[in-house]
Amino acid sequence: MEKVKKLLENTALKATPQRLSILKEIIKSGHIDLDSIYKNLSKSFPSMSLATVYKNIHTLKKHHLIKELSIENEKSKYEIAAQKEHSHFVCTQCGSVIDVEVDKKDLLAQVENNANNFDVQSCDVYFYGVCEKCKNSAKRSN
Ligand SMILES: [Zn+2]
Ligand SMILES: [Zn+2]
Repeated sequence: MEKVKKLLENTALKATPQRLSILKEIIKSGHIDLDSIYKNLSKSFPSMSLATVYKNIHTLKKHHLIKELSIENEKSKYEIAAQKEHSHFVCTQCGSVIDVEVDKKDLLAQVENNANNFDVQSCDVYFYGVCEKCKNSAKRSN
């Protein structure tokens, strides 16, 4: 809980129990979608609506505490923004999202060479494929 409180302390946001719990859920799972956060929290906050979770997520995102991952054919997932820069591998079979470290220097150099006067501020890379777990279970059933 301390880590979560620190995150909020750096912003002007009030550390409401809802916000703390949402951040805790995100830290716990690494990457999680809105519906899963709502489902997990409804045990501790039975009266909290999906709209409230959505509103809090939106606020946390606006204050750059969390980042939204836009994943093809999947619901958006959220992760803590203050992390070492990384890209994502998405399993097209089980939907799990795995952090991968990729050196994007060459990629950014190419963009800057090809597009004059463009100032690249961010670059999100997603890789799609089959994760190790799904690969192994496919092998076993053969
Ligand atoms: Zn998988
Ligand atoms: Zn990540």
